[in-house]
Amino acid sequence: MATRSPFQDRTNPSVILKRGREERIVRGHLWIYAGEIQELEGTPEMGDLVDVRSSSGRSLGRGYINLQSTIAVRLLPGNPQVLDEDFFAERFTGAARRREKFMPGDTAMRLVYGEADLLPGLIVDRYGSCIVVQILTAGMDVRRELIVRALDRVFSPAAIYERSDVPARRLEGLAPRQGALKSDPGELVLAEENGLKLWVDVKNGQKTGYFLDQKQNRAALVSLLRAHNPSKWRVLDAFCYSGGFALCAALAGAGEVLGIDSSAQAVVLAGRNSEQNGLGGQCEFREGNVFDELRDLERAGRQFECVVLDPPAFARGRATVEAALRGYKEINLRAAKLLCSPGILVTCSCSHHIDAALFSDLVTEALRDARRRARLIEARGQSSDHPVLMGMKETAYLKCLILEVF
Ligand code: SAH
Repeated sequence: MATRSPFQDRTNPSVILKRGREERIVRGHLWIYAGEIQELEGTPEMGDLVDVRSSSGRSLGRGYINLQSTIAVRLLPGNPQVLDEDFFAERFTGAARRREKFMPGDTAMRLVYGEADLLPGLIVDRYGSCIVVQILTAGMDVRRELIVRALDRVFSPAAIYERSDVPARRLEGLAPRQGALKSDPGELVLAEENGLKLWVDVKNGQKTGYFLDQKQNRAALVSLLRAHNPSKWRVLDAFCYSGGFALCAALAGAGEVLGIDSSAQAVVLAGRNSEQNGLGGQCEFREGNVFDELRDLERAGRQFECVVLDPPAFARGRATVEAALRGYKEINLRAAKLLCSPGILVTCSCSHHIDAALFSDLVTEALRDARRRARLIEARGQSSDHPVLMGMKETAYLKCLILEVF
């Protein structure tokens, strides 16, 4: 796709919505679905700025258009005149400033979380001096060069790498894409989080290499463990990936930590990360299917003072919610059986399609079936560098319950 000139005609094409379709937008939502459009004035090209109006002529904002997608327009609050390098640099600076307030001094974080940072379709993660970009929409894809220039100007990173290798791009008519945009970051990048130094595989790892969204939940686990004098504690980190929760538990002083993941690559990285932090003696990482492993641990009579469950999104769409609920229930039931009384259960779900209330209900059912009771210590969500945009529930996805099981 050609790079477009940042200087567009000031009179933008207009999108006029069907009657009554403005309600959701007025409440803060940023997406206009193709089926909500009554009329298109002008002939916008892929990614062009358009002005959106209600059927009665009320101005609802400005956004970029993709008529090939079911989400035809993504609004850009602030009604920018042009989407040029300055526009991106300004939004990046604002996003970085906000994060400096919630997580001062941190060097590993999500710098831009799409819609919630008023940059729909764009994800930017930082791991020390390496920036990883994920471009999800055609409107952002045509502006790749401007985005890279603005990132370079605001953050001066050593490397910028693109991880747009996600199936969601197909909905926008885009192929998956991956590669260096500024200098090659090398095989692994070292990042710091919660007092740990972690190797991140930005090229081949899951997501952009690491699960930044769990950072503050890991910190919450650290505080809780420290309050318990955990030197005799056994901690099980099920779905451990590169060791996030497991290593935090070990750093907090847990005597024995077992991490399990089905990805051989992740398990090797977790082992490497434990050595990097001098925690190899307390930690064991094992490749395995958590569903089988939980059963085997129970059969072997193993007990843990703390279990962390952080599975992948079992519900990928509405059609898979029922099967996903069974999966979540199964692991929560097995985990409850492995816990000492009292014990700590940290249980998570990152499925968009299972909301907080539904998740809480299924965990309650699993505990009942395991004949255990629990007190809620904390109901948490995604870290504050993944803020939820009120009025847009699509931006909320992570649930994390910390329970005292007895
Ligand atoms: N807790 C991790 C993130 C976990 S993401 C952190 O803090 O960084 C989910 C993980 O589950 C992925 O690493 C994936 O490889 C793993 N996984 C998926 N299905 C699995 C299964 N059935 N058994 C074990 N691990 C699985």
